[in-house]
Amino acid sequence: MLDSKCIFCKIIKKEIPAKIIKENEHVMVIEDIHPKAPVHYLVLPKKHVININYLQESDFNLVTEMVKIVQEITKNIQDSTGKQVDFNLISNNGEGAGQSVFHMHWHFISGKNLYLDGFKL
Ligand SMILES: [Zn+2]
Repeated sequence: MLDSKCIFCKIIKKEIPAKIIKENEHVMVIEDIHPKAPVHYLVLPKKHVININYLQESDFNLVTEMVKIVQEITKNIQDSTGKQVDFNLISNNGEGAGQSVFHMHWHFISGKNLYLDGFKL
């Protein structure tokens, strides 16, 4: 259930190279090619779902798998004191919210406090 025109589906099929941080049968985590922080990964489900609004009941296991892989990743990243890192997970859903690739993904951002850098919610 991948879309042949989608850049993230092509990365998942390994038709386009990417720096893969971690993957399993459900999820792939890659480095963002335009990092906005010292650690900036993209968490992708291995199913073409446009965004959260398009998730179906049967897709919710993918969200669980995405959360689980994020936990696994943070276990391997420590700050300079050896403490497990703090991080942001950001999901843009729809063009009006800044989504630019229409395959659901979460930005995993660490090593930079976005709020001190002017980010506001
Ligand atoms: Zn896709």
